[in-house]
This record gives sequence, C-alpha cells and structure tokens, in this order.
Amino acid sequence: MVGSNEALLDEVYQEVILDHFRNPRHQGELENPDASCEVLNPLCGDRVRVSLRLKDGVVEDIKILGKGCSISQAAASMMASLCVGKTLEETQKLAELYHAVMKGEVSVDNAQELGDSLAFEGVRKFPARVKCALIAWDALSRCLKSKQT
Ligand code: ZN
Repeated sequence: MVGSNEALLDEVYQEVILDHFRNPRHQGELENPDASCEVLNPLCGDRVRVSLRLKDGVVEDIKILGKGCSISQAAASMMASLCVGKTLEETQKLAELYHAVMKGEVSVDNAQELGDSLAFEGVRKFPARVKCALIAWDALSRCLKSKQT
C-alpha cells in the first residue's frame, strides 16, 4: 500500500532501493525450510515471509514472500542478498547492526558491512516508515532465534 506521504519519501528513494523494489531478489518460498517466519506491519499493510535454509552453520538460502510498500519489499530483497552465504553468527550481527542504524544508535560510517542496506538510513526521517524497513530483518531474527533454542 502506498501512503500519501510517498512524495516526501522521494528524497530517500535512492536508486538502489528502486532497483530492488522493481527487481526483487530471492523471491518465493523454500520447500522444507529450516525456519520460516512472517512479520506484518499493520500500519502500512506490509507483510514479509522469510524462509531460511541452513547448512553447517551457514545461511545457505533465503526466500522472500512479501507484499507491501517499496521500502518493505526492497529492504527484504536487500536483506536476503546480503545474508545468503554468511554464517549464522555473522547474520545475527548484521541484523543487530541494521537495527542499531535504523534506531540511530550506530552511524552509517560504522556500519559499512551492511552495504546497500544503508540506503534505508534516510527512512529514519519518517519514523512511521521505519517499521517498513525493519520487518524483513525482524522476520529473519525470529527465524534465527527459533534455530538457537
Ligand atoms: Zn511500508
């Protein structure tokens, strides 16, 4: 769903966000995933389901099934692109770092390992939309937690 403040958001829409929204990576759902979690953002109508396959402590594959605004869907696509091939520990650290950046606790300069996902830092100017940029990562974190217990 596209809100009426979409025009305002133009200034935070870096090309990399539009690219991932128009050509989302890692779309679909894994068969027999090791973990699968869905997070909703009722404020905006976004929904992201993350399914995850692990092998030998490494995130072997991630698939995204989502619906919603460009921020939520582009963030999910970038999250999957960044985390596939990383170890569980690295993935957990990236998720924590991304949350810290979106909360303003860590500066972009100290979070370069997030790569393209740093494009969402500009969304912080629109607090109502920060959740859009976080739901894919929230779903990922829940998947990771479910594998730790
Ligand atoms: Zn949204």
